[in-house]
Amino acid sequence: MIQKILIANRGEIALRIVRACRELGIKSLAVYSEADVQSLHVQLADEAICIGGPKSADSYLRADRIIAAAEIADVDAIHPGFGFLSENAEFAEQCESCNIKFIGPPSAAIRNMGDKAVAKETVKKAGVPVVPGSDGPVSNEDDAVKLAREIGYPVIIKAVAGGGGRGMRVAHNDISFAKELRVASNEAEKAFGNGEVYIEKFVENPRHIEFQVLADSHGNVVHLGERDCSIQRRHQKLIEEAPSPFLITRPELREAMGAAAIKATEAADYENAGTVEFLVDSKGDFYFIEMNTRIQVEHPVTEEVTGIDLIKQQILIANGEKLAFRQEDITFNCHAIECRINAEDPARNFTPSPGTIGLYYSPGGHGVRVDSHAYSGYQIPPYYDSMIGKLICYGKTREIAVQRTYRALSEYLIRGIKTTIPLHKAIMQDPVFKEGKATTAYMEDFLNRTPSDMFD
Ligand code: ADP
Repeated sequence: MIQKILIANRGEIALRIVRACRELGIKSLAVYSEADVQSLHVQLADEAICIGGPKSADSYLRADRIIAAAEIADVDAIHPGFGFLSENAEFAEQCESCNIKFIGPPSAAIRNMGDKAVAKETVKKAGVPVVPGSDGPVSNEDDAVKLAREIGYPVIIKAVAGGGGRGMRVAHNDISFAKELRVASNEAEKAFGNGEVYIEKFVENPRHIEFQVLADSHGNVVHLGERDCSIQRRHQKLIEEAPSPFLITRPELREAMGAAAIKATEAADYENAGTVEFLVDSKGDFYFIEMNTRIQVEHPVTEEVTGIDLIKQQILIANGEKLAFRQEDITFNCHAIECRINAEDPARNFTPSPGTIGLYYSPGGHGVRVDSHAYSGYQIPPYYDSMIGKLICYGKTREIAVQRTYRALSEYLIRGIKTTIPLHKAIMQDPVFKEGKATTAYMEDFLNRTPSDMFD
């Protein structure tokens, strides 16, 4: 049995993993940068080791230092959380070769699914529908333009190594295509050190619906239902919910998508927790876009709806245990909504707002969960992601979950910095959102028609 886990991450996800370890009676080791000395995950872990300077490149991305810390502290396993090294196949390999369990899929699955073109090819062969597009990366501009015409405009140009919505460009004709192709490739080179891009049909006004999967090392695969993550700004998720309002009235579509998610997982020779992401158009046709080979920010909505602790499941699977439930044992018992609380100013184009939190008071009561590492007096370092917490509210129906989210947001006090709380409050009162009609085009439309003093 795993006795001690190193948590190769920071912030709320590191804290989330500390909590799961404690409940399982497993010791936790936090590794942290010089900027995170005051962070709650460092305070609450059983042990902590500083691994370098504030910049991620000097600490959370330093595989060598993390593995050295693991060896010094004699840990059996490393949980990578999300971001940082979580989808780095080489890091997973290094852990494997040092006899440290990587709490995630085998490195081969990370590598194959991390290359989005290979991922699409793999699942397509297994019969899962994919968005029409190039077979693999596009090599030269002339061929790419020809292909874009064949696919039919609008098309979207995406980075093969992409993530976090970066390196993605939409083109509506030959002229904008040639320009955007160069921009996307440059952006991808800068962000991921790999300028390769591929092309897809741009699905207009789709919903982003993803399925949570779990696969053990004994060949058992289940899905834990879907999450609707259509509320995005610049292709980055802001609000997620389960179940999807679109699928509530379409049980056959849900069944077909769940079966496709399982096929994709099997085709990837997958193990541990993962997410199969689809776009769904207004007719109900669905297309695989990618598989995320890690735990996701929005995993709590699935936990609240199914009652299954996903971090614990990850640890048990890494420990070689069989899943304790079959597909038919998994039930969906409520509606859950997650709002990402970011240190950003939504009224001023979402400018980052790091600084010191004055008063911090988080909401509570029936059906409210807050996953956050923030507290009164906490200094938000400017070096990392702006997310400082997640508010998850759940109730028997979607209507109750929406009302509860609004109530909890109204209680949430974070003084001294700007946050996305007022924006979430405005969205919870918006008729389009309340009716469950939001697609990925929602945020842009909402921001255009809503005066920004509504969420100042
Ligand atoms: P990333 O890995 O950067 O998050 P994804 O492939 O998961 O990129 O896509 C993120 C979001 O970008 C999707 O949820 C969707 O809003 C938009 N998107 C991606 N591909 C398409 C497409 N073919 N058509 C329309 N929107 C797309």
